Amino acid sequence: MIEIFQGGITELDVDAIVNAANHSLLGGGGVDGAIHRAAGMRLVEACKLLNGCDTGDAKNTPGFDLSASYVIHTVGPIWYGGDNNEAALLESCYRRSFEIAIAQGDIKTIAFPSISTGVYGYPKEKAADIAINVMKEFEGEFEKIIACVFSPNDFELYRSKLSDPS
Ligand code: ADP
Repeated sequence: MIEIFQGGITELDVDAIVNAANHSLLGGGGVDGAIHRAAGMRLVEACKLLNGCDTGDAKNTPGFDLSASYVIHTVGPIWYGGDNNEAALLESCYRRSFEIAIAQGDIKTIAFPSISTGVYGYPKEKAADIAINVMKEFEGEFEKIIACVFSPNDFELYRSKLSDPS
């Protein structure tokens, strides 16, 4: 089942939340900052041991003070106009996050923010198409996948795409 939730991802009571992180994995603004604030200082200590993360890849840590047991950190592409492999890299973020969640073994519910669509500038509609395609591919492996959006416009974007059977 794929659900849409509008609000802060740190509020969600799921097994894992995905973080739209940066290469360093040491925290940043946007959803990354919110996750680090809510998880507490132990999160950055755990992230320091990971040696960063490549764009399109993902790595996981415990969720510490979050209700989520795990945070899966993925690094989305910066949008440079679309001819710089952005689509493949964004798709890889979703795919690698799902693969890590499956490998972890005890993740049945997982929530994703709209990766790369904040300061990284990825066009929202193109990003939603990629997110939803990969979510549908992995839908059978999870009890619940949540697309966590922040704005009413993004909620409507995901709602219209998810209700369109094509
Ligand atoms: P990126 O650097 O990957 O673009 P951002 O954090 O700037 O990451 O933005 C990614 C998306 O997360 C944007 O759509 C933004 O509106 C959304 N966002 C920001 N804060 C939160 C939050 N606390 N929970 C869920 N989504 C959030």
